[in-house]
Amino acid sequence: MDDWEKAGKIAAEALEFGKNLIKVDASLLEVADKIEAKIVELGGKPAFPVNLSINQIAAHYAPLPGDESRFKEGDLVKIDVGAHVNGAIGDTALTVDLGDNKELVKASEEALKAAIEIFTPGTKLGDVGKAIQDKIKEFGFVPIVNLSGHGLALYKIHSGVTVPNYDNGDETELQEGQILAIEPFATPGEGKIIEGKPSGIYELRQHKPVRDMNSRKILKFIAEEYKTLPFAKRWLVKKFPTAGFALRILEQQGILMHYSHLSEKTKALVSQAEHTVKVADKPIVLTKI
Ligand code: MN
Ligand code: MN
Repeated sequence: MDDWEKAGKIAAEALEFGKNLIKVDASLLEVADKIEAKIVELGGKPAFPVNLSINQIAAHYAPLPGDESRFKEGDLVKIDVGAHVNGAIGDTALTVDLGDNKELVKASEEALKAAIEIFTPGTKLGDVGKAIQDKIKEFGFVPIVNLSGHGLALYKIHSGVTVPNYDNGDETELQEGQILAIEPFATPGEGKIIEGKPSGIYELRQHKPVRDMNSRKILKFIAEEYKTLPFAKRWLVKKFPTAGFALRILEQQGILMHYSHLSEKTKALVSQAEHTVKVADKPIVLTKI
């Protein structure tokens, strides 16, 4: 098994484990910690903080240090898990329904299946988007058009290739052996997301000299430990109690990018399904147990 296959399996197992932890009254912080510990137990590292995005939040909700929020009756929970092995990434997500939104959950799942079926060499990226859009429309919903799947590269969540969730006319053809994440989002709303509050998820963008000694030490740790992968403030404060201050400085200097919560524009519910897939005549789903 190569590292991509290993990372895919670890992410899939951690997602399956995590799915069963999402219950009414369970703590988001505990669930995220447990899933990330499971990734390590399985021999990987988190490729990004576990995302537990609820209802109209489509993505990028990760519990903050001391987060006291709990899952509630009726919540629609997107659980998005990333694992890496030597930088090779498995990225996978599903939606847990604590309410009555079966069709919405099914819409993104079926759209993902439809996209995987045609994930063969020569398929145009726009046609993958069309397959996703058509399937979601069959269920009476719309895809989120400004969220998309993405190519994966070593220590990079976004390689530069975009897998659209609608027919964007992209005629770029899939190539044998390419590894990409496909992630349809379905909603009864307008199908657009807007940025919300800062998430506590950061990513190293550019190395610059830093005057403050503490911030310099933390930046060194980030560069060595996470490289160019997203990481959580929650992880850093465990090791460096003053990390919050350093993160603010590093963000102000443009060294770190701080992700925001992404919410549906009309506050409508959002479902998500995601797999990491290798392009082949018979497409290979890497994030499978
Ligand atoms: Mn993901
Ligand atoms: Mn992804």
